[in-house]
Amino acid sequence: MAPEHILVIGGGMGGLSAAHALLEQARERQHPLQVTVVDARPTWGGVVRTVVQDGFVVEGGPDSVLAFKPAAVRLWQHLGLGDAILGTDPQHKGAFVYAQGRLHPLPEGLTLMIPSRLGPLFRTGLLSWKGKVRAALDVWPRRVAPPDGDISVADFIAGHLGREVLEYIVEPLFAGIYAGDARRLSVAATYPQLLDLERRYGSLLWGLLAMRRARRGARPTAGTRAAFVTLRRGLQQGVDALVQHLRRLGARLVAGAAVHDLTPRKAGGWRAHTAQGPLEADAVVLALPAWQAARLVEAWDPDLADALAAIPYASTATVSLAYRAADVAHPMPGYGFVVPRVEARPLLAGTWTTRKFPHRSPQGFVLMRLFLGRAGADAIAQAEDEEVLAVAREQLADIMGLRAQPARAWVFRWQRVLPQYEVGHRQRVAAIQQRAAAHPGLHMLSNAWDGVGIPDRIAAAERLAARL
Ligand SMILES: Cc1cc2nc3c(=O)[nH]c(=O)nc-3n(C[C@H](O)[C@H](O)[C@H](O)COP(=O)(O)OP(=O)(O)OC[C@H]3O[C@@H](n4cnc5c(N)ncnc54)[C@H](O)[C@@H]3O)c2cc1C
Repeated sequence: MAPEHILVIGGGMGGLSAAHALLEQARERQHPLQVTVVDARPTWGGVVRTVVQDGFVVEGGPDSVLAFKPAAVRLWQHLGLGDAILGTDPQHKGAFVYAQGRLHPLPEGLTLMIPSRLGPLFRTGLLSWKGKVRAALDVWPRRVAPPDGDISVADFIAGHLGREVLEYIVEPLFAGIYAGDARRLSVAATYPQLLDLERRYGSLLWGLLAMRRARRGARPTAGTRAAFVTLRRGLQQGVDALVQHLRRLGARLVAGAAVHDLTPRKAGGWRAHTAQGPLEADAVVLALPAWQAARLVEAWDPDLADALAAIPYASTATVSLAYRAADVAHPMPGYGFVVPRVEARPLLAGTWTTRKFPHRSPQGFVLMRLFLGRAGADAIAQAEDEEVLAVAREQLADIMGLRAQPARAWVFRWQRVLPQYEVGHRQRVAAIQQRAAAHPGLHMLSNAWDGVGIPDRIAAAERLAARL
């Protein structure tokens, strides 16, 4: 029987989207459904956090979504935000890699973040001649992944295209998404398509070429040609509209109430305890990072808790800095840059926000944002603001020669928010799902599986709602 009252614990993009999909689908099927969403924080949206101040639109967490995964754009259009959707500025396309003391343009022709064209690869200053020749050897088919399919991103890419392509191109781009360590990240869990290409072609270069040809002519969603889109007043605008819409649909939204205890009721259903009192429901959706879900299940299923807690998370800090335009001599000729792990810097990536989304800084100012910390080296996410700022400014001085005093600065710290899909991840997740299925009415939605991107979170929530 379909549940009549569902409690969603966690009001990030995952939890809010689940509540929305549940209520919309119940309405379509004329099924009476009550949905309560509870979140520990006083604000909604989880890691989505936008500050709009004096003409600046500053993103503390995510700043845009991939346009060709349609779920976010579809949701925003449904919420009436179609006119607020903006693509990246086509004038300043392109990204850079900071290596050996300078910024190199990323070679053109990346498919799935991997070089798929030999011409640009041979022209890049990022690789030595030896590295380029090694990459080209991939045209001869070989098998790198073991028969069970799982292997680290580092071993897989180095096995096909050599260490230099791994260290200076693929690793920093993967790190830009997972803040992870390519030596530990799983190919099967992050980019299973690569294993399929290996099975079919033996060579990534041939496989990616075939993929590029098949995709030719495909358009991203929302009538935009941009690969990334956002909202005029930042991604928080989408969260605010979603929360308002949920209220209209009759959802009960309880903010500032951490669930500290969750128990199955003897008669069926669930009881959650919060500082604001108990909440009861027929079914519960844990829309939380895996390690936070672990705490709630520990008392009645310690094995499930252990399996959830075994998924590692990395921390990060983002720093947005606004400069007077006259103080910035650097041309900032693209959307930003990534920094390979082998450079051994605290900086993971930098975005020239003013170039990527010009509306985010007022006339006369330049806005940029730095990501500090990565898996295995994320202590900076716990440092005081002054220290985080000092590190950020030191990096900008080295990389862009920018020594001016910023006019404004915003620091955001994110503790254990980025799940690491490490080798063996798929088996870990299968075990979690199998154990969770033993508890009637318990459902789990987490960026620890089926994708970290916001469109992935929305799509997973929609699938869960359809199943429920
Ligand atoms: C710095 C950063 C940049 C990113 N950039 C991008 C990007 O540009 N594009 C993109 O698509 N994705 C990006 N991501 C990834 C994406 O933002 C996240 O994967 C996604 O937003 C996670 O949503 P969620 O609802 O699963 O989790 P969260 O946003 O973590 O939400 C979980 C919620 O659960 C609540 N909670 C936790 N414990 C309890 C409890 N006991 N009781 C009640 N509530 C509880 C928390 O308060 C929180 O609000 C980024 C992530 C980060 C951290």
